[in-house]
Amino acid sequence: MSDENKSIYDFDFNLICEFFSSMERQGPGSPDVTLKALSFIDNLTEQSHIADLGCGTGGQTMTLAKYVQGKITALDLFPDFINIFNRNATQSGLQDRVKGVVGSMDNLPFQDEELDLIWSEGAIYNIGFERGLNEWRKYLKNGGYIAVSESSWFTDERPAEINDFWMNAYPEIDTIPNQVAKVHKAGYLPVATFILPETCWTELYFAPKNIAEEIFLNKYAGNKTAEKLIAYQRYEAELYRKYKEFYGYTFFIAKKTRSHGKK
Ligand code: SAH
Repeated sequence: MSDENKSIYDFDFNLICEFFSSMERQGPGSPDVTLKALSFIDNLTEQSHIADLGCGTGGQTMTLAKYVQGKITALDLFPDFINIFNRNATQSGLQDRVKGVVGSMDNLPFQDEELDLIWSEGAIYNIGFERGLNEWRKYLKNGGYIAVSESSWFTDERPAEINDFWMNAYPEIDTIPNQVAKVHKAGYLPVATFILPETCWTELYFAPKNIAEEIFLNKYAGNKTAEKLIAYQRYEAELYRKYKEFYGYTFFIAKKTRSHGKK
């Protein structure tokens, strides 16, 4: 494949990892949003086992760990992120109960009904919203919680440019009522749903990313793959500025129910 025909998914993964590992977060979010989502969850104790799936370098995990007792296993596909994650955990003195492991969210290293809480910020899209909700459910205890953030449409109709972008990047994006219905159908009680504030994208994600982009472009001056990677990042940020009234991230907090004859 020539470079010109490459999509973001075909970029050199080492370059992508290097770029994103220089940031505290790899997706939109904030400590306030993590804590707000956590405020809807009421069953945690020192004995609890929590999983953070697609944890990245662990920005949200360290926030969680400061406010909950119990053990957190955080999982990400990319070893570089997990190395940084475990270094961060140690620096925060959390290494005894917060562990990063390399693995894939479609093949989790947990027992059935082992987990009290499954957390996943800006990452369930990698397996797909419905598939993740369905497949992860069995790892939760009865009455256990899931808290995930996911991209949503805010309106039924939207301009073609942004519609085409999402249909290409992640066609499973949907409206919030449809997503809540999917949560319910997958065997959970939807407990809370809220939209992430714009600052989670602008100040807390795009602003640090801009700085990382400059540093990265300097380091890889003349490298076409690196330049394309950054051009794509800037295109994504530009689309957000242009079309933010039509889409954003939503946090879904839900409790496992015994419905549908499922285990
Ligand atoms: N939760 C973090 C990272 C979100 S970015 C944050 O909010 O900052 C999405 C993350 O999913 C990346 O770290 C990426 O490496 C990870 N990922 C992608 N595919 C995955 C898979 N199959 N299994 C586990 N993690 C995956």
